[in-house]
Amino acid sequence: MTDLADLTIAEAGHGLRKGDFTSVDLLDAVDRRAAVTEAHLHAFLTMDHDGARAAAEAADAALAAGNDLGPLHGIPVALKDNMCTIGVDTTASSQILAGWKPPYDATVTARLKDAGAVIVGKTNLDEFAMGSSTENSAFGTTRNPWNTDTVPGGSSGGSAAAVAVGSAFGAFGSDTGGSIRQPAALTGTVGVKPTYGLVSRYGLIAFASSLDQIGPFARTVDDAAVLLEAVAGWDRRDATSINGPVPDLRGGLEEGVAGLRVGIVTELSGDGIDPQVLAATKGIADKLSDAGAEVIEVSVPASEFALSAYYLIAPAECSANLARFDGVRYGHRTTVEGTTEDMMSHSRAEGFGPEVIRRILLGTYALSAGYYDAFYGQAQKVRTLVRNDFAAAYERADVLISPTSPTTAFKVGERAADPIAMYYSDVCTVASNLSGDPAMSVPIGLDSGGLPIGFQVMAPALGEEMMFRVAAEVERLAGFEDRASLATSDVVVPS
Ligand code: GLN
Repeated sequence: MTDLADLTIAEAGHGLRKGDFTSVDLLDAVDRRAAVTEAHLHAFLTMDHDGARAAAEAADAALAAGNDLGPLHGIPVALKDNMCTIGVDTTASSQILAGWKPPYDATVTARLKDAGAVIVGKTNLDEFAMGSSTENSAFGTTRNPWNTDTVPGGSSGGSAAAVAVGSAFGAFGSDTGGSIRQPAALTGTVGVKPTYGLVSRYGLIAFASSLDQIGPFARTVDDAAVLLEAVAGWDRRDATSINGPVPDLRGGLEEGVAGLRVGIVTELSGDGIDPQVLAATKGIADKLSDAGAEVIEVSVPASEFALSAYYLIAPAECSANLARFDGVRYGHRTTVEGTTEDMMSHSRAEGFGPEVIRRILLGTYALSAGYYDAFYGQAQKVRTLVRNDFAAAYERADVLISPTSPTTAFKVGERAADPIAMYYSDVCTVASNLSGDPAMSVPIGLDSGGLPIGFQVMAPALGEEMMFRVAAEVERLAGFEDRASLATSDVVVPS
């Protein structure tokens, strides 16, 4: 019999309602899985065993009483540790927030609880979501379950690894420049960055507020839609949240791609992309064409400069957002004695890791008088060009496609000493953050080393219905059913 931890959310929900098993059984299954895999992966920073058990028991009682809260009712899910959970540690993987317990829930947390989901714990990330490998965490690296010598991607690497290995049925991450899609690609999971403003950022520890979006990780496109549906929609607590209807995420899943115009982005599908990744991407593009789509090459010229603009805008915003960590209101405070200024600068120097300090310095420089126009101002102009070029591309194509990541999972340590090489990991993903448009990654196969390859589907703002429709077809055409080996063969999971 299949281990319950390997079910999709759809299958788990079906079995729950048939009475084949309970939410407590599902929780036991992911806990047993985590008990084996965590020693190898370190996907979680905190596991809320007591809270999760109470939630699972409550979910079972509610279902027994006929009170069905919908498709996430009783399903164990995980949250990236930069989303506030009342009374449960929320650190953003930074020493500066070590031990901090928020006095409130993020909107995403609250909506998941309202949907009956069971929150199993908080997952590891690059400190303050700055990175592409989860190596920048102050609390240790997360490993990729496909090959524990490699990284799971980042910054939401813990959420990606947990879903890939079955220690959660679904998880949430945040994506500022690719932090959901790139780890999804590297771990063989589905990852979605929704339209900017579709999911409330209230209670998400801010990195770069004009780029940050929360979105799901799942094993299937359908599960990803279910997870996103539970948290999407207007929130009066986030002034940038979209006050309008949520796109119908599941309505088009079975409709196929006949007659749709699918554009391969020229600038993201050539130089700098690993040949195996490129070949797999083109293979799926051909299959989309066989399935009736009109596949064309579309140039988005400004996307070539997106990465440079991103690495000015994101640090600039982070330098402002992280000013609040001053040792006064919450978080780490130095024991060094001196003036107030000494206290603040020592608290920050002790609390922040090297990549965070690098970003704050970069951002402060880019915003400083005399350099503002040359750096930040220039980057904002490029951002406008990126937006305009994508808008023009969507005149010609209903969706755009590209690889998600230029390479498959890389070795732990391989890019850690070379920030530029690490930044290049985001070359295919940052443009959608600059434009605010939705994009997602779907696993399509394995490279010769047995590591997953991700395929990116991008759509215009609030075009999620079309994006999910194409992603579902990609999923069917790819037939990717492999699961991370740590769970299925290397390790014998006790039952
Ligand atoms: N890897 C990118 C960065 O380091 C993106 C991070 C993210 O999306 N949070 O900034």
